[in-house]
Amino acid sequence: MKSIEQIAAELQGYDPQAISAERVNDFLSRLVTPITATEDIGVFDALGRVLARDVISPISVPPHDNSAMDGFAFDSAQLRTAEPLRLRVVGTAFAGKGWPGRLADGECLKIMTGAIMPAGLDTVVPLEFVKQEGDTIALPAGVVSAGDNRRLLGEDIMAGQPALRQGQTLGPAALGLLASLGLPTVNVFRRIRVAYFSTGDEILSLGDAPREGAVYDSNRYTVFGMLTRLGVDVVDLGVVPDKPAQLEAAFRDAAAKADAIITSGGVSMGEADHTKAMMKQLGDVAFWRIAMRPGRPMAVGRIVEGGRSAVLFGLPGNPVAVMVTFLAFVRPALQRLMGGVASEPVLLQARSAEALRKKPGRTEYQRGIVSRAADGSLSVRTTGNQGSGVLSSMVQANGLIVLHHNQGNVAVGDAVDVMMFDGAI
Ligand code: AMP
Ligand code: MG
Repeated sequence: MKSIEQIAAELQGYDPQAISAERVNDFLSRLVTPITATEDIGVFDALGRVLARDVISPISVPPHDNSAMDGFAFDSAQLRTAEPLRLRVVGTAFAGKGWPGRLADGECLKIMTGAIMPAGLDTVVPLEFVKQEGDTIALPAGVVSAGDNRRLLGEDIMAGQPALRQGQTLGPAALGLLASLGLPTVNVFRRIRVAYFSTGDEILSLGDAPREGAVYDSNRYTVFGMLTRLGVDVVDLGVVPDKPAQLEAAFRDAAAKADAIITSGGVSMGEADHTKAMMKQLGDVAFWRIAMRPGRPMAVGRIVEGGRSAVLFGLPGNPVAVMVTFLAFVRPALQRLMGGVASEPVLLQARSAEALRKKPGRTEYQRGIVSRAADGSLSVRTTGNQGSGVLSSMVQANGLIVLHHNQGNVAVGDAVDVMMFDGAI
């Protein structure tokens, strides 16, 4: 486990007062040590979990050559002439049953999708391609070639081959694949636990009466939502007022219970509060000004309590900045902590429907609404007011327009990258 000082020394030109978004991820990948504890769980419980070791297939899928269609199976050696081929139907092969015996020249077998290809037969002509007269079929020339409509043993997965790799997050397709291998359980890393709390004297909890100058806490709810989507266990430690004793108790409680701690608020430059001081006192923490918008101030490090170490993410207070810094930095870092691979955000390109002002030298994340233009291309417009406290912009948006570090002003019609909020699965 490296200290903040050691990591800082590894990074050339590291400047905590002007750190780029890319550099932040590099720093965090050195800070986070993946967990090692694993458990065996049932496949239905494994959605979103991270594989702790490669899964080697104990069987071949499919286990036999089989038919991909309902039709007639025959030996393609008979496909010789340009004439229609006439074959006598001598039986039926159903899915799930073998068909014993062999066929002679001039014979074929009615076969159902998924049925084992009987010995000596290599081709299936679909039902709809043939004319049936009594117990014979006429197969027009040219409708099938040798090997058509036959699925090969092991064409999905061959016995002894790796089917899934360690570090892979299990999605719906992977669950199905595990089941197709006949595996009732799978070895995954244990779930990580993430504790979070909001800080600030002006922050109201739900149920508190409104009062002048105070705002209701929204950060715990967006953080809860994003953590839950990530598949971690959450520990909600509420709103902590700007009092040293209460902050200390919250940090110690969080570090004792969790693998990572997420706070919001109290890390900006002009803060007259105790959050930063308490982070400094209890942990090994770096305080950054990140070259980005929104979300400039952020603290990261580690807090140790009772022999346990928790990674700390001290996010800014502004609600949009919390979500953006989570998506850009915390999410990939937590994926590593979970034993997985940080997923590169899938960026799609869209044409900007408006001119965007952008200064090179910082990364900007604008809330975007992507839609399909009349000519079929993707177009993106902003949600309007890009203030870092305008949480409704995150609700209206379906993605973040990512204006990269070196990028300058965007003209109408220019292509921009968008990090979409939703994937298909
Ligand atoms: P800070 O970084 O603590 O100076 O907070 C920046 C801004 O975000 C201030 O306007 C805070 O009132 C606001 N803020 C901080 N925490 C929260 C929260 N949990 N929910 C909503 N707004 C917050
Ligand atoms: Mg504050």
